[in-house]
Amino acid sequence: MTKPVFRFAPSPNGGLHLGHAYSALLNADFARRFDGRLLLRIEDIDTTRCRPEFEQAIYEDLAWLGLAWEEPVRRQSEHFDDYRAAFRALKGRGGVYPCFCSRKDIAEAVACREAETGQPWPRDPDGAPFYPGLCRHLSEDEIERRITAGELHAWRLDMGTLQKLLPGPHGYCRFDREGGEERVAADPWRWGDAVIVRKDTPTSYHLSVVVDDALQGVTHVVRGQDLEAATDLHVLLQTLLGLLTPLYHHHGLVLDPEGDKLAKSRQSKSLAELRAAGVTPQEVRQRLGFVPQPTPST
Ligand code: GLU
Repeated sequence: MTKPVFRFAPSPNGGLHLGHAYSALLNADFARRFDGRLLLRIEDIDTTRCRPEFEQAIYEDLAWLGLAWEEPVRRQSEHFDDYRAAFRALKGRGGVYPCFCSRKDIAEAVACREAETGQPWPRDPDGAPFYPGLCRHLSEDEIERRITAGELHAWRLDMGTLQKLLPGPHGYCRFDREGGEERVAADPWRWGDAVIVRKDTPTSYHLSVVVDDALQGVTHVVRGQDLEAATDLHVLLQTLLGLLTPLYHHHGLVLDPEGDKLAKSRQSKSLAELRAAGVTPQEVRQRLGFVPQPTPST
């Protein structure tokens, strides 16, 4: 029987903090309980924000926590061709279109619609306004002209078309520590016309995570609740690309004393800083609710 495959997939755009430690330790805990394998994936598609020193620090922090993972580590920046191929497959199915808009174009169009209707414009689960469709119906000629002229563009899912093509119901299986499984509904449409290829990189978080989970044979995804809504979109992409949908477990987030989510951007203490302050890996495990590993009695 093939073993369950888990993965921890951090982005090297800052130091890991306790929230990452929790996710990594939980993945390792699940892999141990389920007699599974644990993979590490470096999600570095954003080549401007990701840095080699942060990647190096990830390996050091995880080793310090006592974690082990299989080699080789998959680094997304080395696999853009895989994402390009997946995108070609999506494009071949229809239901995607190029979008030349800037953030400002979108914000202005949304403000206009809100002023016209007096109603708040719908937003996606990340709080971004639904794309107001400015580039949804450009003619082939105009698209070609603008692309040939070198205009930067993203690619978006055309949710109206896709909803007709794949009305659903969509869903996935959620699993828990005891091995329980439960089917849950997914609503990909709440993302509006999501970007699947960004302007600045030939993929997006959503596309590359789905492609990589499939290519790496990941069967069990353990990640934070902040990504639970993204799973609804991932399920749609898996269906479009003919990929298996893994099982998912979305864990609670580690909060700071003010009750906010830990974030690199909010200067939450990094694991490296905790380590420098004399905190031990055992203390981190204890603080996060993991039983300390028995120390060898030699
Ligand atoms: N790279 C993402 C992050 O650091 C996690 C992606 C995932 O687990 O699907 O938040």
